[in-house]
Amino acid sequence: MPDPQDIRDITIIGGGPTGIFALFYAGMRGATARLVDALPELGGQLTALYPEKYIFDVAGFPKVLAKDLVRSLADQAAQFKQPIHLLHTVTGLEETDNRFVLVTDKERFESRALVIAAGIGAFSPRRLPQACAQPWYGRGVYDVVTDPEAFRGRRVLIIGGGDSAFDWGTQLLERAARVTIIHRSDRFRAHAATIAQYQAAVGSGSADLFTFHELHDIRCATDPDRFSHVELRDIKAKSTRTIEVDVVLPMLGFVSDIGPLAEWGLTLEKEEIVVTSTMETGRPGVYAAGDITTYPGKLKLIASGFAEAATAVNQAVHWIYPEKKVAPGHSSNMAIFGQTDD
Ligand SMILES: Cc1cc2nc3c(=O)[nH]c(=O)nc-3n(C[C@H](O)[C@H](O)[C@H](O)COP(=O)(O)OP(=O)(O)OC[C@H]3O[C@@H](n4cnc5c(N)ncnc54)[C@H](O)[C@@H]3O)c2cc1C
Repeated sequence: MPDPQDIRDITIIGGGPTGIFALFYAGMRGATARLVDALPELGGQLTALYPEKYIFDVAGFPKVLAKDLVRSLADQAAQFKQPIHLLHTVTGLEETDNRFVLVTDKERFESRALVIAAGIGAFSPRRLPQACAQPWYGRGVYDVVTDPEAFRGRRVLIIGGGDSAFDWGTQLLERAARVTIIHRSDRFRAHAATIAQYQAAVGSGSADLFTFHELHDIRCATDPDRFSHVELRDIKAKSTRTIEVDVVLPMLGFVSDIGPLAEWGLTLEKEEIVVTSTMETGRPGVYAAGDITTYPGKLKLIASGFAEAATAVNQAVHWIYPEKKVAPGHSSNMAIFGQTDD
């Protein structure tokens, strides 16, 4: 494993699909690289927000689970054994003698160029504001669902009115002993078909949906280490009701913050980095790709991020080593993959 203090050609900020593909691409171009991400796992939004959802618009896959796509991307990148530093939040950037020093909360990483693939920034689930919920986080209150099987036979309360709330509501109908969704209003922001599917379950008596309700209290019956009931408050009628619940899933969206990137002298538009068609940011040696970028016609899609990662890395390689061409050639002919020219 390379020394973290090595000067690498490219440091990639962000381990979402764009950053992972950039890491692969750097290896393919013979560049040394490293990837840095604040989260404990690779995958960005795919891992943190929708690991169990199918994606239907990634080229070559009729459908692919988000977590499986991340695994394939990581396998592809792993061919080149480039270091990945997870749980490193980027806090600053210094530049001396044509070298960038990326500062994280744990280490300093030196490189010749940067590819920023920071998506929507460092993000974390929006927490429930109620004090009663705080001690139960990780012990019955979970804001990310990684394995829906963990809730088989449990009584689940989902809080929220968006896609995640209704997606998990419908996905858990078969597994959970009972699913209840509560929302502070009667306006939902989820896909109409998913809402209709959940409402059909409510209509048949196999699930509950309480609008204008919020969490009021979490209670234990006998075991002080496990809660068994929650008290819900009807904010319109100003009444309360108590239901039996073992698991609370707050699905309140995410808070994201591009943090220190805003202070690096890059041109920003609404927390997005303005780039040219060559993924240049205007600061020599600093490239960007994926959801963090904006330009006329920008699409925030995984497919766009892949193409932008390839462009950013090819440009970075040429910027560091002008004798190397921007155009990579065809991987199907590359000696690095054991291939020879046609
Ligand atoms: C529910 C949902 C469904 C979706 N479905 C589809 C779909 O079907 N098809 C499709 O094409 N797209 C879909 N998308 C969009 C797709 O997920 C994004 O376009 C994609 O994730 C962007 O990838 P990225 O690598 O650019 O950014 P991200 O996936 O956001 O990854 C960025 C990474 O950068 C890290 N980071 C940010 N700031 C810092 C920092 N300061 N320090 C360290 N690390 C940092 C973050 O932790 C994160 O891991 C969906 C999105 C959502 C929310």
